[in-house]
Parts: sequence; C-alpha cells; structure tokens
Amino acid sequence: MGFNQPLGGNEMARFAGIASMMRLPIARDAAGLDACFVGIPMDIGASNRAGTRHGPRQIRTESCLIRPYNMGTGAAPFEHIQVADIGDIAINTFNLAATCDIITEGIGSILDCDAVPLVLGGDHTLTYPVLRAIARKHGPVALIHVDAHADTSETMFGERITHGTPFRRAVEEQLIVRDKTIQIGLRGSGYSPGDFDWGRRQGFEVVTAEMCWHKSLAPLMETTRRRIGDTPTYISFDIDSLDPAYAPGTGTVELGGLTTIQALEIVRGCHGLNVVGADLVEVSPPYDPSGNTALIGAQLLFEMLCILPDVKSSAG
Ligand code: MN
Ligand code: MN
Repeated sequence: MGFNQPLGGNEMARFAGIASMMRLPIARDAAGLDACFVGIPMDIGASNRAGTRHGPRQIRTESCLIRPYNMGTGAAPFEHIQVADIGDIAINTFNLAATCDIITEGIGSILDCDAVPLVLGGDHTLTYPVLRAIARKHGPVALIHVDAHADTSETMFGERITHGTPFRRAVEEQLIVRDKTIQIGLRGSGYSPGDFDWGRRQGFEVVTAEMCWHKSLAPLMETTRRRIGDTPTYISFDIDSLDPAYAPGTGTVELGGLTTIQALEIVRGCHGLNVVGADLVEVSPPYDPSGNTALIGAQLLFEMLCILPDVKSSAG
C-alpha cells in the first residue's frame, strides 16, 4: 500500500507550492487515514493578546521546512501510516459556544474514521471541546498538559468557557483521568497563591517550571509512562510552556520557561503511550515576526506524529 508522502524539496522548492502541513496531500476528510493534521483557527477564547486565529495557517507555512525522517529518534512516520492535512474546522468566529460544538463534531468525525487528530491551534479553549469528542470515543483519557498556566480557572470574566478554563471543565465532565493527568511547566504570576493547587487536589501531578530548571525531563517521562500504562492518552501542548526566548509569539508570555530540548524530551517521552490525539496551541503570528514560534510549533507537531503507536523506525 502506498502511503502519502510530503512533497520533497527536490520536487518543488520548499518555499513554493500549496502550504499544506508538511506539504502533505490535502484530504476532504479523515476517511482512510491513520492520522491527520487539522487546524482550528480561533482566538475568541483568549484573555490577553489575540492572533491565534492565524496560527494554523502560519504553522502550515513554516512546516514547509520539515523533512520526512526524524533523525533524532529514527521514526519514519510516512513509511508506516497514512497521513494527510484535512484543512481547518469551520468554526464560528462570532460565537464561542457554537464554536465548541462545531469542534466536538469535527473532531468526532475524525475519530469516527479511526484516525488520530493532530490539532493546529488556535487558543487553548479548543482542548475542551476536543476532549469531549475524544472521551466519547475512548472514555476518560490520561493527559499530558504542557503549559505555563494551569488553565483550571472556574471562570474568566464570569465565563465558564475560555482559554483559562478547559481543564476545569474536563474534570467536571469526566473527560480525563485525574490521577493520570500531568501538568508540566507551570509558572509566572497568579490570581491567588493556590492557583496550581486545584489540580493537585484533583490528583493531577503538577510539575512547575522551577522543578524543571536545569534538568533533563527524561526521568519524569519514564515515571509518567509507567503511571499511565496503556490508558488512552491525549497530549495538549501550549507553546507558552516554552521560554519566550524560543517562542515569543504567543498571547500570555511568562519568563523562565522550558527549553526546546525539554520540549523534545516530553514529546519523545510519550513514545510507547497509547496516544489518541494531540494539540499544539497558542501560536500567535502577529507576535511572531520571525516565524520561529510557528516553526517550533510545526516541528513539535511532527514530533507528536513520530510517537504515535503505529509509527516505527525505517525498514530501510
Ligand atoms: Mn494554555
Ligand atoms: Mn499558557
């Protein structure tokens, strides 16, 4: 069976052609796919700087650099699974509640095809409706949540659905397994001294940025893999988990963040887990003049593809 291949740099210059994710073929839906890239171009859940509505398009643009083989891990995704870019979910940019329902339906239709969604965000609100669809298919999932922020507020400005509340809603609606949820990279200033304790009280493992400083995160991931076991797992990666030296193009910047090496340790450390979906959120192109935040986002999405259960090293 022939698997889709990204358009190579020797067939068409990397900066040319249609800007699909990784220059993959574009599909109308997820039928026949094992995994798909899908954009959710929204920012109406953001509390501070906007602009993540432009994230999916910019991530696709910068992804033109990425070649098909992972030289660090040996993973050869396009030798083992069928992947395409299925475009964006047609959200309602004037209505956040309606947008959430559209997202749950859109991700649900991907899962109905037994494909793994890899989501290009978009603000972090989107993880809540994505998890609704994921839990409908797989039941409550283990969660690897990488972020500068806990995103477990009860409300923001009186609203229950925002980019600061998705994981509170996920707990309330039993979309995630609380004692198989880990939050990594939390830091910065808070509304109250106990902001990160709500998750701890639910049974989350909360690993602050300070706990990560100057350390390899490989041992943490080894422990995490053992704890999660074969429970279906979702990865939610907020680009603001990274230090703004690496990823300044985002809405709620906090200093003292993770390094790109630690980001790779986290994602590669998910290899061996039963990953059923993932997102990369909060890339805001208007604050990303170099494009590097979007490029790092694209590269992390490729790394997520590389750790999916059916992806192996090259046979050749
Ligand atoms: Mn977040
Ligand atoms: Mn954040």
